[in-house]
Amino acid sequence: MKTYDRLFIGGDWVVPAGTSRFDVINPTTEEVAGSVPEATEADIDRAVAAARQAFDEGPWPRMSPVERAAVISKVSQAIQADMQGIAELITSEMGSPVAWASLAQVFAPSMIFDYYAGLAADYPFDEIRPGLMGPVLVRNEPVGVVAAITPWNVPLFIAAAKLGPALVAGCTVVFKPAPETPLDACKLAELFEEAGLPKGVLNVVPAGREVGEYLVRHPGVDKVSFTGSTVAGRKIGAACGENLKRFSLELGGKSAAVLLDDVVLADALPMLLPNALMNNGEACIAQTRILAPRDRYQEVVDAIVEQVSAMKVGDPLDPTVEVGPLVAERQRERVESYIRIGQEEGAKIAVGGGRPAGIDKGWFVEPTVFVDVDNSMRIAQEEIFGPVLVVIPHDGDAEAIAIANDSAYGLCGSVYTADLDRGLKVAQGVRTGTFMLNSAIPIDFATPFGGFKDSGIGREFGREGLELFLEQKSITLPAGYTPPT
Ligand code: NAD
Repeated sequence: MKTYDRLFIGGDWVVPAGTSRFDVINPTTEEVAGSVPEATEADIDRAVAAARQAFDEGPWPRMSPVERAAVISKVSQAIQADMQGIAELITSEMGSPVAWASLAQVFAPSMIFDYYAGLAADYPFDEIRPGLMGPVLVRNEPVGVVAAITPWNVPLFIAAAKLGPALVAGCTVVFKPAPETPLDACKLAELFEEAGLPKGVLNVVPAGREVGEYLVRHPGVDKVSFTGSTVAGRKIGAACGENLKRFSLELGGKSAAVLLDDVVLADALPMLLPNALMNNGEACIAQTRILAPRDRYQEVVDAIVEQVSAMKVGDPLDPTVEVGPLVAERQRERVESYIRIGQEEGAKIAVGGGRPAGIDKGWFVEPTVFVDVDNSMRIAQEEIFGPVLVVIPHDGDAEAIAIANDSAYGLCGSVYTADLDRGLKVAQGVRTGTFMLNSAIPIDFATPFGGFKDSGIGREFGREGLELFLEQKSITLPAGYTPPT
């Protein structure tokens, strides 16, 4: 049981302004796993003031990118030194299977921090361009005070996707984690404190939606970096637009995995299914719509059912478990309501659909596969955010692309085929921010990731992820003058 009584603001652990707290409920045991203070508007005021002062007067934005990177590298090393401990902490917060969590929830964030620490040395923050009328110094300056708002499903990963580039850029940050997963955020604050981050550069304020909105609208915030639902993203984008704040949004998804008629299922499904059901299905990039060639539909369904039935469901701390519980009771209700909706719409359950036998605690739902699904059904259009897959027939590459694109979302997708040129055409035809061609890797941290359409605005990762936290300034120079480096 991990308990925090203070908030990390201005480089110190300070007494919160209010008295209310968030209890973190372990979704496997339904017992309290930890507790943190709930930040109030007064705490947000203090956190923004600390970040503002650290940005306007502190050393951080004035240090070189490489000096800043050294602090970030130390945090990465500290994360790697405690992979199992941090994975177990996150598993206790939100139920991610620990074997997957240690890679995706812990090692991946350290890779992200390392990538941005490395980019600090290579990125052209200052560049002299010849210009049309004379030399111009083009500077990439930090955008200012960043509000980083994250969801609960891959909490440390998304924190790293925001803090890595924001801090390398020279920004200061007010980080609002989701109420379900504040413990790993407080742990991250401890790691940055130990790494010697100057005071006020990072402030961590666990809070709910209303206080989150207050943070978004705060006049001391220059940029909002948000990951979460499309519903919340629309509100945040609107609020930022009113105040001309910079913003970037990483939102929901309903990604399609396209199986072409020449697919070798024995090769494709071991890549596809772990992605389709990753993190108990609570993943924005989950490949939850499987598009199968009509004349091989039954063969595809049989193979999927066989593999999904064999997946081990249970205590996510067991390293052999592949599917754990959902984050909260309300999330299980949501997923179960979609299972009912699918049946009412006329789809059939090929496997799963209930709660796993023999488990009497925890918010578990069996991995579930729907067949006889039409892409217009709600279970094919709406993000369920649980271990529920739909298998939709298609009549060839063009129709598969059309079905994949018949979605409000555009985050990720995949294609599996024996003909790579044909697969590449499908990849080029689907309007999503990332796509996998015979691959199991949905995100490469050195390249941009983000959404078309309702899946978001802006790109995290790669150089583009750093540029979200930079403002360009052009200084025209007299001919012959070379500024000191
Ligand atoms: P959510 O939108 O309910 O909450 C996300 C975060 O935003 C939380 O910290 C919440 O407290 C805060 N929040 C909610 N409304 C807000 C508002 N109006 N103003 C300020 N803050 C607000 O989402 P969730 O249920 O925590 O997460 C699941 C969603 O996140 C899914 O839709 C999933 O697809 C999406 N997601 C997207 C990505 C991506 O990279 N595109 C990654 C992970 C999760």
